[in-house]
Amino acid sequence: MLAQYAGATDPGRRRRRNEDAYVCEPPLFAIADGMGGAQAGEVASRLAAAVLEEAKGGEGAEVGGEERVASLIREANSRVYRRSNEDATTSGMGTTMTVALVEPGGRTIAFGHVGDSRAYRLRGGELEQLTDDHSLVGELVRSGRLSPEEAESHPQRAVITRALGTEPDVDVDTFTVEAEPDDVYLLCSDGLTDMVSVGEIHALVEESDDLEAAARALVDAANAGGGEDNVTVVLFRIGGGEAGETQRLPAAALPEPEPEPEQDDEDTLSPLDRVPAVDTAVIPVEAVHEELRKADADEQRRRDDEGGRRIVPLLVFALLVLALLALALWGVSR
Ligand code: MN
Repeated sequence: MLAQYAGATDPGRRRRRNEDAYVCEPPLFAIADGMGGAQAGEVASRLAAAVLEEAKGGEGAEVGGEERVASLIREANSRVYRRSNEDATTSGMGTTMTVALVEPGGRTIAFGHVGDSRAYRLRGGELEQLTDDHSLVGELVRSGRLSPEEAESHPQRAVITRALGTEPDVDVDTFTVEAEPDDVYLLCSDGLTDMVSVGEIHALVEESDDLEAAARALVDAANAGGGEDNVTVVLFRIGGGEAGETQRLPAAALPEPEPEPEQDDEDTLSPLDRVPAVDTAVIPVEAVHEELRKADADEQRRRDDEGGRRIVPLLVFALLVLALLALALWGVSR
């Protein structure tokens, strides 16, 4: 069964707005990281979160598990997509979404996932990432072109390959894990993982007295590490075999929506505080794979031309990054 849960969100130190949202409606937990100009990112993540809040954890649902999680995420997708088509001020908005549904009895947990927010599991002293990042650098790491360490500081790490709300349909990753007593699950936005190493995340969750303290410690660590993005965490712990009370730790509430400022196109606090990277943009994964295929073909051609002499792989890689950056800018301007 579910023993304890907590959530926290913070705008961070550089951003004026908080475009993240989270849901703690046990047995349903979720996180959403919105993107889009002006207030659109907030609209997208909150619309998506509202779909889960209305679902009230799964009461009366005819299906459970992955099927239910996927259908909730698809519903969130169409709601964000519809709004962005109806309302020009939110055109092009989108959001990530990572959802966990703890099955009755707490023996299994169904996950659904789109984007670069993450789910981790802490079990027996090991912290394991359960989700694949749907991001450009995630694709480069999976294809062996980047090491996980290089990915952490890559300038295009905000480019994602899937989001909710940008297309009428969305491809949702789903999977189910067998839960064990004392497992702790963490859902988090990239504002945590870009600022805090996996080793530090692990230590903070393990050393904290309870999950509320862990949630606060993680947010504080992200801010201490620079706080360049909104940071949001949701944690829940699986209890022992016997049924008992689920302890509801005071989840830090989402901040009250701010009054709408006039003509506010600024995403950051001041021009000096601008984040020096391409902001979140979506490039379809097919386009990424197409570029990777072209890079491979170029490299093969060079090898053939140069009679098998090895070319400098860095050159190919630099060309690839340039091509993808052009695509990202094209995606932003669209
Ligand atoms: Mn973010």
